[in-house]
Amino acid sequence: MISILIPAYNEEGNIIELNKRLLNTLKNYSYELIYIDDGSTDKTLEKIKQINDNNIKYISFSRNFGKDAAIYAGLKKASGEFICIIDSDLQQNPKYIISMYNYLKENNNIDQVAMVMKDRLKENIVKRNLKKLFYKICNKLSDIKLVDGASDFRMFRKNVKDAILSLNENNRFTKGIFSWIGFNTYYMYYQVEKRYSGKTKFNFKEQFKYAIQGITNHSIKPLYISTIIGIISSFISLIYMLEIIFKTLIMGKDTPGYASLIVVVLFLGGIELIFIGILGTYIGKTYIEAKNRPIYIEKETKGFDNEIL
Ligand code: UDP
Ligand code: MG
Repeated sequence: MISILIPAYNEEGNIIELNKRLLNTLKNYSYELIYIDDGSTDKTLEKIKQINDNNIKYISFSRNFGKDAAIYAGLKKASGEFICIIDSDLQQNPKYIISMYNYLKENNNIDQVAMVMKDRLKENIVKRNLKKLFYKICNKLSDIKLVDGASDFRMFRKNVKDAILSLNENNRFTKGIFSWIGFNTYYMYYQVEKRYSGKTKFNFKEQFKYAIQGITNHSIKPLYISTIIGIISSFISLIYMLEIIFKTLIMGKDTPGYASLIVVVLFLGGIELIFIGILGTYIGKTYIEAKNRPIYIEKETKGFDNEIL
């Protein structure tokens, strides 16, 4: 059986159409559709409830917990041998579910098929390059390897699901987790489509937050880098100090220095603040993890009555 996980946050205009297409694609297969309503404030849940199909299950959160929490909840409830994650905005054509399924059926050595966007939809050049930079930095700084254009649209076997669930960290960067757990992944290209209805939930600010999370969730290298830069700048200032001592005391030259002094003070002040910020980010993360709060809170569910808890 294939478990299809569909995180949805304010997607009232997409649910019915998506479901129609999913049912069409999956009619000859054994499947369960698990909708995760991530605290939508529009009619998303009502639309899910309107669907008349016995294979439909859903979880509805008490508030918006984020897509990664929604994926986690779906994984916990999924009972299929194969698990697929798909967005609810129809950017990812359901026909690829079958391509991924067939690939996994034919290749026993592959545990996971991840879909990679062939080309991104009209994105401006600044955004495109910022994303490239993020993947570069992330891959350099952390132990995980992210593939540019690979999203959460993928299918994997139950063993991969169990591995993902064994990581019970609160602050979840799913893309990084997919990479961190290992397993054999096959990357398959797909043509991303335009959103059917509504707007993206990941604006620039959200993406920036996500990028910082991506780096700091899987690596503490920024802390090492801060230390190294600290050592280098202390070394440079030591040389500068020796030069001043030499000039003033031995050569007897007056060393006027207001301008250079203020530049150095401001520069180092800036660096210090950045490093305090980096340090603070990690401390904040530790604080949140230490509280060990649940990753999501469900308000309502349907279809999981027989589950073993
Ligand atoms: N999503 C979610 N919770 C959130 C934000 C997004 O469940 O807090 C879902 C959203 O409904 C969609 C998927 O995650 O099904 C991807 O979101 P979106 O299409 O906005 O992202 P994009 O495709 O623009 O990267
Ligand atoms: Mg989308």
